[in-house]
Amino acid sequence: MQRIYKFAGYISCVHCGLNLRCKTGNSSVDYGYYKDMARARALPCPAGGYLQVRTEHVMQQFGELLQGLRLPAYWRDMVREQMIEAAQKAGFDQEAMEREKERLRLKRGRILKQHRDGYIEDEEMEAEVAAVELALRALEVPETNGRLVDSRDGRGTPRYGHAYLGTWRA
Ligand SMILES: [Zn+2]
Repeated sequence: MQRIYKFAGYISCVHCGLNLRCKTGNSSVDYGYYKDMARARALPCPAGGYLQVRTEHVMQQFGELLQGLRLPAYWRDMVREQMIEAAQKAGFDQEAMEREKERLRLKRGRILKQHRDGYIEDEEMEAEVAAVELALRALEVPETNGRLVDSRDGRGTPRYGHAYLGTWRA
């Protein structure tokens, strides 16, 4: 059976830093190993360079890690702030966007008027208004309730990320 090593390339020996190599276990068992190849490659490793960890143990530890992850309390603001920054860097044009919003509002007004005057059916009006509102919503600037959000504000926001990977003990 072909085994998939999901963590290949992501975990390394905590002692020598070498990436662990995938290693198929005995055919009678349902797991493989990630193995430190330092000794086989004659590289120095304080732990001997031959330790290995069962794939299922890595899986379990990763599950615990995911469960322990907590998003920072202000993650929405942080994402918004980053989106605004990215848009500004990409040459975001506030005025052009306002013009487009105004154009969409006028279009919505025309659709409603056509409907009132009996030129278009309910269904068509609803579909067109929905399309306009969708476009309008896509243009909404993420609001930050009038305040600038600083994600580096010392609220003790927990940091998380890849730093945890690679600390499995082989
Ligand atoms: Zn090692």
